[in-house]
Amino acid sequence: MSSGISEPERVASVTSALPDSKRSGYSGRLAVVMFGSPGSGKGTQSKFLVDWLRIPQISTGDMLREHIRRGTEVGKAIEARMRAGSLVSDELVNQLVYERIHQSDCDRGFILDGYPRTPAQAQEMMRLLGSVGAREVVIHLVVDYNVIIARMTGRRVCPKCGTLYNAVSRPPQVEGVCDLDGEVLGIREDDREDVVRERLTQYEASTRPLIEYFRKSSDRLFEVDASQDRPETVFGKIQDALDSLLDRTSVAVTAPAMAGMVTDGVRAR
Ligand code: ADP
Repeated sequence: MSSGISEPERVASVTSALPDSKRSGYSGRLAVVMFGSPGSGKGTQSKFLVDWLRIPQISTGDMLREHIRRGTEVGKAIEARMRAGSLVSDELVNQLVYERIHQSDCDRGFILDGYPRTPAQAQEMMRLLGSVGAREVVIHLVVDYNVIIARMTGRRVCPKCGTLYNAVSRPPQVEGVCDLDGEVLGIREDDREDVVRERLTQYEASTRPLIEYFRKSSDRLFEVDASQDRPETVFGKIQDALDSLLDRTSVAVTAPAMAGMVTDGVRAR
C-alpha cells in the first residue's frame, strides 16, 4: 500500500510523477477532489488525507455552516436553503473556494470536499486550478444508494458531547442513549429522512452527472468502492490510487475493475 516515501515529500512526489508532456502550465500543486454522494464518507476520508498528505481540507459544507454559525450576511442568506438540503448558489461557493485556495496553507496542495457539485462549479474549478498551477486527482467514492440511506438516517448525535453514533455501524450500548454521559441522543436537522432524500435528489440531478464530465476532461479519475468496507480499508484503496501515480509512466488513469458492483444512484431496493 505505502510506497515508503516520507510523508512531507509525498505530495511533491505524487505531483512530479507526471511526465513532462503532460505538465504544461503545471507547477506541482495537488488538488485532491473528493467526489461522492452525501453520506459516501468524503469528510471522513478527507480527514485521513489531511493527516497523510499534510495539506488542508477545503469543505464547502463546513465553510457555509461556519457562516451560519457566525450569523454573517452570507450565513443569513443561505440558512433556509441549507436547512432544506438544497444547494446554494454557484457564485457563492466559487467565490469561497477561490478565496480559500489563495491562502498560503494551500501552497503545496489541498483537498476539495463537497466541491464541485454542479457543472458550472466544475468548469470554474478546472479554470481556477489551471490559474494557480494545480492538477486535479478526482477520487469518486462509489456507494450503494440503500447503504447511504441507512448510514445517514441511522446517524444519532449526543446533544451534550457531540459524539456520533450510527444504528448500523456504531450503535450505543443502550439504544438511544450516549455511552459517555447518558444523554438522550438526537438527530441532526439535516440527517432527517426528508432532508436526506432531498440532498440525494440534488446529488442525482446536479452532481452525479459530473462524473461523465470528469471522465472526459480529467485523466486522473479513480473510482473507489466505498460501500461495505471500514473507513480505514477505503482509505487504503485511496492511498493505493494516489501511490499508483508515482509508479506510472503514463498518467492515463483508469478505474480499478469494479465488476458486478452496484454504483451509487442505482436504487437496489
Ligand atoms: P453532504 O455532502 O453530506 O450533503 P456537506 O456538508 O458537504 O454535506 O453539505 C451540506 C450542505 O451545504 C449541502 O446540502 C448544500 O446545501 C451546501 N453545500 C455544500 N457544498 C456546496 C456546493 N459545492 N454547492 C452548493 N451547495 C453546497
